[in-house]
Amino acid sequence: MNKIINAKILCVLYDDPVGGYPTNYARDDIPKLDTYPDGQTLPTPNDIDYTPGTLLGSVSGELGLRKFLEDRGHTLVVTSDKDGSKSVFERELVDADVVISQPFWPAYLTAERIAKARKLKLAITAGIGSDHVDLQAAIDNKITVCEITYSNSISVSEHVLMMILALVRNYIPSYKWVIKGGWNIADCVSRSYDVEGMNIGSVAAGRIGLAVLKRLKPFDVKLHYTDKHRLPYEIEKELSLTFHESVESMVKVCDVVTINCPLHPETEHMFDEEMISKMKRGAYLVNTARGKICDRDAIARALDNGHLAGYAGDVWFPQPAPNDHPWRTMSNHAMTPHTSGTSLSAQSRYAAGTREILECWFESKPIRNEYLIVDEGKLAGAGAHSYSEGNVTGGSNEAEKFKTTN
Ligand code: NDP
Repeated sequence: MNKIINAKILCVLYDDPVGGYPTNYARDDIPKLDTYPDGQTLPTPNDIDYTPGTLLGSVSGELGLRKFLEDRGHTLVVTSDKDGSKSVFERELVDADVVISQPFWPAYLTAERIAKARKLKLAITAGIGSDHVDLQAAIDNKITVCEITYSNSISVSEHVLMMILALVRNYIPSYKWVIKGGWNIADCVSRSYDVEGMNIGSVAAGRIGLAVLKRLKPFDVKLHYTDKHRLPYEIEKELSLTFHESVESMVKVCDVVTINCPLHPETEHMFDEEMISKMKRGAYLVNTARGKICDRDAIARALDNGHLAGYAGDVWFPQPAPNDHPWRTMSNHAMTPHTSGTSLSAQSRYAAGTREILECWFESKPIRNEYLIVDEGKLAGAGAHSYSEGNVTGGSNEAEKFKTTN
């Protein structure tokens, strides 16, 4: 086996907190999990050099990788400066062997950038969702793309539940009355409903979608889903799920729709003007999957004209979203920055998974099949199941506008 030596690893992470890297935390520990719900084991690196529950996903956290990499003679460059031709990312990319990036603060690996990255062999997504990589260019250039499958799927499903409840029960406006010093009950409740009895549908029932459906079951709602592959009969029965052959058929009957599929050419702009017009008036849409699955302006219009009663999510396009992005100011939204999959709990798992992948790659050992998206010039592993060939990074250069509008 050939061991890989003296590699250059370029890692793009989001900035540290405005007040500096934390010196203490709200809690002393995080629960230790044994396996994921389907039995898949958690990441199995030989060792870790960080305390689970600390901030690993920002620049100073370095995913806990520096000691591991430098002890073995590799070079680690960590930066948050990722957009534009003068960025540190673009400068350092030319001789990098490995790029690590997170969906929360994506280093868009476009075909143009891949063409400049002559040594690049491995692109690791520290998290789930590798749509910020031009997968077609990765296929064409035989770059392996992999992600830490399952590492934050449950984190996101919890966030989806929170957002459905926040929208339907009108939580955020009510909270704002408290901050303003008011006691305006009628203002709070004139848009507030119960979730009980509603029809709730998930676009996709993969790891996140199924976890959302399972968590919704105790709310006594009617559950629907659509997916490329149907779930086993026993699961449909246990959760009383109604399966729909198409997204259109499902959204027509749903009061709440949650999007849980990856972004790839088949799902880009799935929720456009036409699809939204098929949704019930007053429906809520929760999208923690990817911003580009929705048409930006069609969503803003549907909220402003009242066809949709609310929209929530944490995913935008591009990221970071420029200050003038209409989703920042549209009516009745409950948006956050891209946070659902990067809780401190999730960070610990995807940092360990990143290290596991690097350990395998340095030793020329196979990377777990479930982590693979592209390998040996084709979609592979999880990628072969859930993605389609092609590119969805178009327009990502707009992310540079964040710098100029802030
Ligand atoms: P999975 O791979 O487990 O599930 C994805 C599901 O989407 C699969 O069931 C797949 O179908 C289905 N799917 C793919 N294309 C379509 C389509 N055209 N129509 C309907 N269903 C489709 O992934 P996860 O559930 O773990 O994650 C899903 C996505 O959520 C990620 O790709 C990512 O974009 C996003 N995400 C967001 C995070 C955040 O922080 N906001 C964090 C983690 C993930 P099948 O496999 O049956 O073919």
